[in-house]
Amino acid sequence: MIKERVCGVFGIIGHEEAANLTYLGLHSLQHRGQESGGIACSDGTVMRRQIKMGLVSEAFKRNALQELPGRTAVGHVRYSTAGSSDIRNAQPFVLDYAHGQVAIAHNGNLVNAGDLKKKLEQAGSIFQTSSDTEVIVHLMARSGQPTTLGRLVEALSQVRGAYSLLVMADGKLFAARDPHGFRPLVLGRLKDAFVFSSETSSFNLIEAEFIREVEPGEVVVIGDSGLTSSKPLPKKPKKFCVFEHVYFARPDTTFDEQTVYHARIELGRQLAREMPTNADVVIPVPDSGVPSAVGYSKESGIPFELGLIRSHYVGRTFIEPQDSIRHFGVKLKLSPVGAVVNGKSVVVVDDSLVRGTTSRKIVKMLRAAGAKEVHLRIAAPPTTHPCFYGIDTPTRSELIASNHTVEEIARYITCDTLSYISHDGLMKAVNGQDGGFCSACFTGDYPVELSGGANPIIPLRKRIETDG
Ligand code: AMP
Repeated sequence: MIKERVCGVFGIIGHEEAANLTYLGLHSLQHRGQESGGIACSDGTVMRRQIKMGLVSEAFKRNALQELPGRTAVGHVRYSTAGSSDIRNAQPFVLDYAHGQVAIAHNGNLVNAGDLKKKLEQAGSIFQTSSDTEVIVHLMARSGQPTTLGRLVEALSQVRGAYSLLVMADGKLFAARDPHGFRPLVLGRLKDAFVFSSETSSFNLIEAEFIREVEPGEVVVIGDSGLTSSKPLPKKPKKFCVFEHVYFARPDTTFDEQTVYHARIELGRQLAREMPTNADVVIPVPDSGVPSAVGYSKESGIPFELGLIRSHYVGRTFIEPQDSIRHFGVKLKLSPVGAVVNGKSVVVVDDSLVRGTTSRKIVKMLRAAGAKEVHLRIAAPPTTHPCFYGIDTPTRSELIASNHTVEEIARYITCDTLSYISHDGLMKAVNGQDGGFCSACFTGDYPVELSGGANPIIPLRKRIETDG
């Protein structure tokens, strides 16, 4: 199975500082991907592209941006996974085809890309990358439709799965979201320019005005004559990824009028209502567990403290140490505050528990720092199924909750008690009781059928050692 992972996309049209603003937009989407960043810019005649491995702020120097003149740009940050770094897969892709140049940036995962790629190769296509995104461009190239919009729609009508897509071609900027709307995509305005981004966090930074979400199944085109919109794909129920609220998105981002920060506070409150604990102090696993721990503390009345400090300087160049000193790994990133936890009964709140290895190390560390009892509370239900729509999750066998009971997991992690928020509680916290969300990673209820027994070999990003 070829796959693309959760990434971030940004696009702008009608601004003389298109490349600089895209750089800033990507900077505020950096949490969505640290493996590579790329910007493609059009001056109306030629498209130019700069792609770099690593963090946008470190990899893009001033001269790289100066080489990108033009008023239209698309940018992309790509998610990091152990062992898959390849500059060839860095986006945006810029390709030449019979109708000129086209740039494309994609967030999501196409579940039938493997089948389509095989057919296209049999028909003579030569692929440059192992990314599913390239399939879309090949389908566009083979389309007999007379317009770019027609070719894009014809391509999208053949792919299945998750996509929030930006395409620059023909002096226009196209934005498309799959009919279920798995991954986010928002539209904004910056003076006369239109901007698109995976998250509103970019608009906060560049001071763009949020207009609305690109709707599931919608294709928006911005050109000389302004904005046009169509819904050319068959309508499907909305299935926005609930894990964006749980872990992935930045807390200052807003989805469907709910700020992610508030969703996470609500997750913590709900968790405290469902799983109360008699303890002295609530501590988060930073950074992603902070808002839910605040919520847990507010609801339970147990004081909130920072009992774990996260170092933000664990570089991506960190070389895995030899076995004898490997256990330092987690300590490089998280360090307990003895004065907060010593002699205390501690509630530790984290956003999710995937393989359980991080929590196990954290519990050990807190006990070594003197914690009397450690109660782990997870602001998501047990992660039992891999994601096929863009989130980077391990295989089913590596997901500890897919083959162990909560008691067994607690024993492995060596905490005194372990509990998770219920699925109903999760839905209540994100205003999803009436549907509208994909929560397949917690239920196995996949909204889009996987083709050809897709193989879920998607390694979890090695969070402690590599993420930023
Ligand atoms: P573990 O249980 O050791 O696999 O790690 C769980 C931690 O990883 C949680 O605290 C989350 O903050 C974080 N996490 C959850 N999902 C992902 C993901 N897809 N990629 C990276 N980190 C994740």
